[in-house]
Amino acid sequence: MAEMFIGGKYMEFPGLERFPVINPANGEVVDTVPLAEAEQVDAAVQEAHRAFPGWWDTPAARRGELLATAARAVLSHVDELAQLLTSEQGKPLRESRIEIRRFVDTLDHYAGLAKNIRGGYVPDLDEGTYGLVVKRPLGVVGAIVPWNFPTTLLGNKLGPALVTGNTVVAKPAETTPLTTLRIAQIMHEAGIPAGVFNVITGTGPVAGEALVTHPLVRKVAFTGSTATGKRIMALAADGVKRVTLELGGSDPMIVCDDADLDGAASAASVSRFFNCGQACVAVKRLYVFENVLDQFLEKLLPRVQRLRMGPGTMEGVILGPLHTDRQRRIIEEQVQDAIASGARVVHGGKRPEGELFEKGFFYEPTVLLSPSHDSRVAREEVFGPVLPIWPVKDLDEAIELANSSIYGLGSYVWTRSLDRASYAAHRLEAGYTWVNAAQKIYDELPFGGMKQSGFGREHGSEALDYYLETRSVVVRTTT
Ligand code: NAD
Repeated sequence: MAEMFIGGKYMEFPGLERFPVINPANGEVVDTVPLAEAEQVDAAVQEAHRAFPGWWDTPAARRGELLATAARAVLSHVDELAQLLTSEQGKPLRESRIEIRRFVDTLDHYAGLAKNIRGGYVPDLDEGTYGLVVKRPLGVVGAIVPWNFPTTLLGNKLGPALVTGNTVVAKPAETTPLTTLRIAQIMHEAGIPAGVFNVITGTGPVAGEALVTHPLVRKVAFTGSTATGKRIMALAADGVKRVTLELGGSDPMIVCDDADLDGAASAASVSRFFNCGQACVAVKRLYVFENVLDQFLEKLLPRVQRLRMGPGTMEGVILGPLHTDRQRRIIEEQVQDAIASGARVVHGGKRPEGELFEKGFFYEPTVLLSPSHDSRVAREEVFGPVLPIWPVKDLDEAIELANSSIYGLGSYVWTRSLDRASYAAHRLEAGYTWVNAAQKIYDELPFGGMKQSGFGREHGSEALDYYLETRSVVVRTTT
């Protein structure tokens, strides 16, 4: 039975209701976790608050060293952690290993920035007077993370929060708490002091809201759905707390008639079907110039047909199950709606048959052609292995459709023309644009949304500022 990690140890709270963590590939219970209530959330926040002065006092370079050592320790457990992640999340083992390595890389990246945290000096404000721009940590940060990438999305918050001197209480999704709990223990054993990184388990409405509204929590770093983001923003308003919101997306990809169609087809397939389509940045709407649509489909469909489906632990599997049965039902409804709106199913469109798939939450990789522009797959986020494609007559029409979404997270344009690429990259309403490149998130570049995909940035040195208070100090000298 897993327990919450608070103040440097697994802490038992007898009497709390427990939640079963289910393996999405076979419906079996992997483990159970307690559902924290306000009292346990308070215990974790108090530990983080107690640890804050000592951690802030630790020289930044030392914080960076400790973070780098903790990252190495996590890496040395990559196989164990990948197994755990696959058992609770469902993704193929290969992807779990990639995810754990990404977590480690991100911690390493921020460990490396430890010596670059700096403020400013302004001379001659008045006679004998100068100013200092001082940076200081905020205090206790609440980090709320979803189930699709439980560890990398945690790392995006943990790295900048810890290196700048804050302490953290993390709340993973109730369905994927196990890897996070184990990582907290490994990092503590590697030298991260007790109370600096705590993990609570529980539901969003109870544990999550108790964390957001706790008076000692100074900032909430949230990744999840837009609906929950709005709720968190409203709750945080009461305490005038800082929030960073990394929310949903419906990334458009535009394929022009002069594009490298092989490259575009490969990028679309990898991006759409990675993690069984459950990624915030992923090609969720594909706009292809009508004069190359048939050629493009000829390149895309064999790639989709080759995707091997099965439990994440099975050798060679590319497409695991969806995370929950509920997630699968939402996808089924979105596909039915698309078909009713006039879409043609070019591939997939149903649950796979066979003994291997009986107990898990599997759904075939699906390609839809020309749903209505008002259909749910055009308007909503599609968080599963479904790729809707629309023909467009030119770049202006493609950009207009691409921008017609409430979301603005990622976007992609494929063309050999520098003019077209610049034109599109300038006009696409999204926090990230990839030109002739498959989606990859770099620690070096700031990442985040426009419109209802959220605000604030993770990654890049820009992320540090979201965990620092900027203060001014005026000094008058008398000599
Ligand atoms: P969700 O919003 O339902 O849950 C995310 C987290 O918030 C979970 O830990 C949940 O327990 C918690 N939560 C739920 N209600 C809460 C509340 N009222 N108060 C506080 N916490 C609460 O999202 P999900 O369905 O688990 O995750 C998928 C969503 O996340 C998708 O929309 C996806 O696009 C988005 N996402 C965004 C990014 C990004 O960087 N922009 C990255 C990954 C996922």
